[in-house]
Amino acid sequence: MHNMNQQSFHFSPIGVARTPYPQKFGIARQSGLVPAAQAVIVLNAQFNADTVRGLDEFDYVWVQFVFHQTLDEGFSGLVRPPRLGGKIKKGVFATRSPHRPNAMGLSLLKLERIEYGQNIKLYLSGADLLDGTPILDIKPYLPHIESKPDAKGGFTEEHREVLNVQWLPESQNKGLNQETVALIEQSLAQDPRPAHQHGKDKEFVMQVSAYDVRFMCIQQTVYIISVTSTTDK
Ligand code: SAM
Repeated sequence: MHNMNQQSFHFSPIGVARTPYPQKFGIARQSGLVPAAQAVIVLNAQFNADTVRGLDEFDYVWVQFVFHQTLDEGFSGLVRPPRLGGKIKKGVFATRSPHRPNAMGLSLLKLERIEYGQNIKLYLSGADLLDGTPILDIKPYLPHIESKPDAKGGFTEEHREVLNVQWLPESQNKGLNQETVALIEQSLAQDPRPAHQHGKDKEFVMQVSAYDVRFMCIQQTVYIISVTSTTDK
């Protein structure tokens, strides 16, 4: 009998996600954590309006994608979730780590609207995706079946405080629009620093859209030192 475990499958992306995150550092660690993080999924031209008929009746969609930037890095059976301060190991299948046997991701994103044109565009929010992420599939979220508010959440249930965010006076950039300010503040409040660099007086730079956001953390506060346009360089 043919051994199903030996089979391999070939999947091609149905589209690509455009997001404000050109780099991994600072991206929300889970979908929904940064509501201001917008993504636009641009479907390949072969997927016309028929393919999304009825989708706008749903508030949220499951998005399956490829962790394309870390695809070559392989995986190990045990990983150190950042939520646990990088100290405790959990099995790869007990985590949402990008480093998995099949580097596929799953995010629950809010469907804001659909734009119909040469390419269908899904406007989404709450994204945790790198710009250019290849999208494999989109499915509607079924709240009456899939929402399990009383379910155990394992190690992710541990209470985690968000940080306060303060703009240092010299960092105030009058040119930033409201959405970018919200995106910067919500992203930094999630504390993007690697666990082993907590407690150090270190400056970090996160890229948000076309800006370099320089910041440092002292106790529970993130101080934004400067926001500079990457296109002015
Ligand atoms: N919600 C998804 C899931 O559970 O499968 C992703 C969770 S994963 C912990 C989120 C992190 O994946 C982001 O913070 C970012 O560092 C990384 N990431 C996002 N898009 C990626 C991509 N295309 N390639 C590699 N890493 C990516």
